Amino acid sequence: MTQLDKKELPFVSLPKMWIYLYPYLQRTELSVNDVRKFLQQPAPERGKKTLYMHVPFCDTICTFCPFVRSTNYQDKLQPYVDALIKELKAIASTPRIQGVALDAIFVGGGTPSVLSPDQIHQIGETIHRHFKLKPGFEWTFEVEAKSATEDKLRAMAENGVNRISFGVQTFNPKFRKLFNLTASHDEIKRTRELAGKYFKGFNMDLLYQLPGQTVDEIHEDLQHAVELNTTSIDAYPLDYTITSKGFLQQIKKDRIPKPPNAHEKVEQQEAVTHFLVEHGYKQEFIYTFIRQDAEHRRFVFGETLYGHYEDECIGAGLSAFSYQAGMAYRNFDTVEQYIRAVETNGLSVDVANEYHAREKGLIYFPKRMVIDIEDIDRLELDAHYYELLDQFEEKGLIVREGNQIRLTREGQPWYMNMMVEMLPDRTRNLHERIASTLNERADFTFDEELIMFT
Ligand code: SF4
Repeated sequence: MTQLDKKELPFVSLPKMWIYLYPYLQRTELSVNDVRKFLQQPAPERGKKTLYMHVPFCDTICTFCPFVRSTNYQDKLQPYVDALIKELKAIASTPRIQGVALDAIFVGGGTPSVLSPDQIHQIGETIHRHFKLKPGFEWTFEVEAKSATEDKLRAMAENGVNRISFGVQTFNPKFRKLFNLTASHDEIKRTRELAGKYFKGFNMDLLYQLPGQTVDEIHEDLQHAVELNTTSIDAYPLDYTITSKGFLQQIKKDRIPKPPNAHEKVEQQEAVTHFLVEHGYKQEFIYTFIRQDAEHRRFVFGETLYGHYEDECIGAGLSAFSYQAGMAYRNFDTVEQYIRAVETNGLSVDVANEYHAREKGLIYFPKRMVIDIEDIDRLELDAHYYELLDQFEEKGLIVREGNQIRLTREGQPWYMNMMVEMLPDRTRNLHERIASTLNERADFTFDEELIMFT
């Protein structure tokens, strides 16, 4: 191993926060009526179209979790499903959505496997009756080991779900206890075996860069996932910046070890990639690894979410985001507000922005790891983006190959830096402000500076 001098490094620190969805939405004067008017226009023919549905309920709350969700949902579940179905019908009745066929559907949460078999059928029937689906469409359902019973998995399969995504996070009993992940290893195995009866596509979400986690422990988690015949693995670093305040407080009080420093983060990211590539998985996106003998050798929903301006994601359910060329909006984020808005308007738009981020595909490129040069050129982007690409190439972070630009292995640790560098000034300032505010919640210093790495 070689030691790199600090001045040889392309960046001196890792960004404080990853970018989730680009661009960020801000409250404006636009309302549900503007969105309704927008949905009267046809969608662009170019680009993939996907539908995201959110189920915001969980049986237990994981200690680190930043997502919008709640427990004690039994009385709310059917009213929520009724509202979701009403919103889906309202969306599907618009000229914009009637003119498109969906490439992919993703049901996420929360824990969508809290839905009963009957509720899964209700949603499935709504989709098939009101939306057009492309031949060979991809439909993913997120599940959790204890709530994903066989009758639910069967109901999903009967409605066309063909890809299950399993939120395991870690197999390690120490971390499972720390995070309040209650399913045992045996329960995870049992659900995996049941899912194998109905599905060929089986994704697993794993987290790494956990407090005090060693590379050996990461390898053990990955090994368990591989042994369960997992066809794709999303291995994400835990983003401490957006974890719950209680979790950050525990770290501050030294009840939980500190997050890894920047050096360890880079080392662990490389360890994950190396292990999974060695075990026959292709690195599709920076965190998504797909086994090449699997039936689903792509992740179409991810390609759309992190795709180009014309790749559109339509959101339904509480707090769901919609990014459609021309308009981006987010739904209300409490169950009561969501249901009330759908009952009144059919839709549940809380925040809406005009959206013309033609650079979106380029911003996400380091995460997707590859982009067609033709796709950059046709968007007629500012010369500044070409200058940045030249700089990244000079530093060896990207390489031009034929008609594509690829992230290099050397560029992988810096993919977040590159995404932040490419943000337009206004968005970058907003990004920095959000990241600083979130970091202040932690009330301790993250060690993001890369002094040197070996
Ligand atoms: S990580 Fe998933 S299962 Fe855990 S509380 Fe958050 S949404 Fe629920």
